[in-house]
Amino acid sequence: MIRASTRVAGVIGDPVRHSLSPVIHNAAFRALDLDWVYLAFPVPAGEGAAAVAAMRTFGLDGLNVTMPHKADVIPGLDRLSPAAEALRSVNTIHRLGPDLVGESTDGIGFVDALVRDEGFDPVGRRVVVFGAGGAARSIVLALGSAGVADIAVVNRTASRAEQAAALAPEGVGRVGSEDDVDQADLVVNATSVGMAGTPEADAVLLDVRRLRPHQVVADLVYHPIRTPLLVAARERGAVAVTGLGMLIHQAAHAFRLWTGEDPPLEVMSAAALAALAPA
Ligand code: NAP
Repeated sequence: MIRASTRVAGVIGDPVRHSLSPVIHNAAFRALDLDWVYLAFPVPAGEGAAAVAAMRTFGLDGLNVTMPHKADVIPGLDRLSPAAEALRSVNTIHRLGPDLVGESTDGIGFVDALVRDEGFDPVGRRVVVFGAGGAARSIVLALGSAGVADIAVVNRTASRAEQAAALAPEGVGRVGSEDDVDQADLVVNATSVGMAGTPEADAVLLDVRRLRPHQVVADLVYHPIRTPLLVAARERGAVAVTGLGMLIHQAAHAFRLWTGEDPPLEVMSAAALAALAPA
């Protein structure tokens, strides 16, 4: 039941009607019997700061921010977390007293998925990240903070690889090549290659013969859940990590910031999986 007391969170973006966030958060609110609702707000490009002003006016309690607003909400906010500041990118806005605070939960969500769901300890590990966009940058920053020894960033556009690698501590982040896969403990696809409905849906970015047993191979793409890369990784005996874990853990961080409650991770995961399942 939605009442006058119901607190409102949501996601702004364009497009936004495909977002899984309403399904995930509303399932979590229901499971904990919280008087909250989560909505999707289509906000056109260039209107991010105006949407933040509207968040104040309407007294919304939390927002997620997706493309194309991750940078353009920043002028409307009072503060940024250290991760959001380093990335100049915001995917979550929460209230702290009178302030609206911008946070970036993707990187920590990825690390949580590895540590909590897979038992992977990042300390001292060698990592290859394919891609240098927003998701890759957040992962490089978070893995650098989590203590990995080496992060090789491999990207089609070399200048972006350099910028992403610079987000890791000096001596840890560097521009790499596919050859780095041979020595890696963790290989991450942070590009959109393998995503259903795109020309690269059946493609894999690397020569899968390089993958080996016990290596951890993570794909950020979660549509489909089993991407061509993850299928190949399993066939090679590697540990395949789907993009679902990152999706759930980044949402869990936002949920905790907004409600102060422990997120019901299994409920959130089941809701996302049901929404992703083919009809
Ligand atoms: P983005 O900022 O647009 O970056 C896209 C990256 O993919 C760039 O590095 C781009 O290279 C590379 N790329 C695109 N097409 C390519 C191709 N054909 N060959 C080689 N490289 C290619 O996107 P993003 O926000 O970082 O998202 C990347 C992926 O992660 C998307 O599939 C997104 O859905 C997924 N994601 C998942 C989660 C999750 O929770 N699981 C969270 C965030 C994002 P250039 O720099 O050369 O253009």
